[in-house]
This record gives sequence, structure tokens and C-alpha cells, in this order.
Amino acid sequence: MRVNEYQELAMTTLNKELSKKDVLINSVMGLCGESGEAIDIVKKWMAQGHELDKEHLAKELGDIAWYLAEAATALDIPLEDILQANIDKLKQRYPEGFETKRSQIRLKGDI
Ligand SMILES: [Mg+2]
Repeated sequence: MRVNEYQELAMTTLNKELSKKDVLINSVMGLCGESGEAIDIVKKWMAQGHELDKEHLAKELGDIAWYLAEAATALDIPLEDILQANIDKLKQRYPEGFETKRSQIRLKGDI
């Protein structure tokens, strides 16, 4: 499946009654909520003696992907464009792969 195909398929389950503004708000709230669910799984593994529930974590990552697609949709940006822009930024920041110094000292405009 291609990235934009995922976005299109995921958005078939978008609440059509939401305004564009509400879609954007829902998406960023959803990203935070689902990230919290992912964090909770890792917390239980890290601090509470649980086995790492990879299957559950993978499902939460899927939920995060859905809300990411929703945010892109709210902005009228193909999800693939957002992912490509991120790769382009990282290539510029770390042309030879990750370096601590380049992480600590960012070029102006590198956010
Ligand atoms: Mg979830």
C-alpha cells in the first residue's frame, strides 16, 4: 500500500459531520491521546514488570498513523508530502547519519 492510498482509505472512516477546523483539532488531540496509549504500554514494560506487548503497541502505532493522516487531510496536504518533507529535513540535518553534535547544534530554521 502506498502512503497516499493509506490516507485515502483511512479517511473513509473520518466523521463527515466535522468541520475542517474540527477535523484538525480532532487529529492533534487524537495524536496526543494515541501517543499516550503507546507510552502507557512502554511504561508498563519499563517500570511495572510487564512483558512488552508488541502487538498492542503496533496497534496503537496504527492509531497514531490514522490521526496523522487526518491531520494531513485537514491541512489539504498529501500524507506522502509530509513524510517526504521530513526525510528531506533529516537528510539535511544528518547528511552522514545521526550525529549528536548536529542534534545539539541546529542550523537556523531547522525545526
Ligand atoms: Mg488506540
